[in-house]
Amino acid sequence: MPEGPSIVILREEAARFKGKTIARAEGNTRTLDLPSLEGAKIKAVRSFGKQFLIALPNTALRIHFMLFGSYRIDERKASAPRLSLQCTDGSELNFYACSVRQIDADLDGAYDWRGDVMSPDWDPALARKKLRAAPDLLACDALLDQDIFAGVGNIIKNEVLFRIRLHPLARIGDLPAPKLRQLVEQARQYSFDFLEWKKQFVLKQHWLAHTKSTCPRCHIPFKKGHLGQSRRRSFYCERCQKRYA
Ligand SMILES: [Zn+2]
Repeated sequence: MPEGPSIVILREEAARFKGKTIARAEGNTRTLDLPSLEGAKIKAVRSFGKQFLIALPNTALRIHFMLFGSYRIDERKASAPRLSLQCTDGSELNFYACSVRQIDADLDGAYDWRGDVMSPDWDPALARKKLRAAPDLLACDALLDQDIFAGVGNIIKNEVLFRIRLHPLARIGDLPAPKLRQLVEQARQYSFDFLEWKKQFVLKQHWLAHTKSTCPRCHIPFKKGHLGQSRRRSFYCERCQKRYA
């Protein structure tokens, strides 16, 4: 599943579609009125967390890549697109195996950009406030909570917890204030590190915990488990990642 930084890369790649006019809208989506999109001018391409957003004059399209979604710009895959937007200048945006929804045109009313870890409007104090209001939340679930850390996915979760030496099963309410602050800071910092490494095609080389079998600090085996309410895979070290219980 693409995490926030991957959607930022898509947004940057698709930025040149701003101002283009949709000549043809096709695809096997059953949630969009495709003919109504034809003739619409793309006002902006934006992103919120793991969602890619296309702003049109009277509506907006929200694309979520789920587990297996993908996209191609100015090229096509062999499989049928969920949504294909072909512009009057011949350029096209193609989306596959994703969730597509038509939402209200007022994106600033629909989204609180302060909750997006990649956004210039990201508000760490607001994130800390949300965390303090949920003391029973486990660290592994907190990072995946899109209402707190929009854009953070499972890779970022595992790497942030390892980086700040925090156990995935630590209760948020048990964390000392500096650790809570570090959690919020590194959720954003690691996301930007992820973005840079992904652009340089070296992301996986930088994984220290995600999918790894040995702790690079302690040289003992990582624990693995589908932890928390999210049941997503966790890779962690029982020795150097503290639980604060
Ligand atoms: Zn360790």
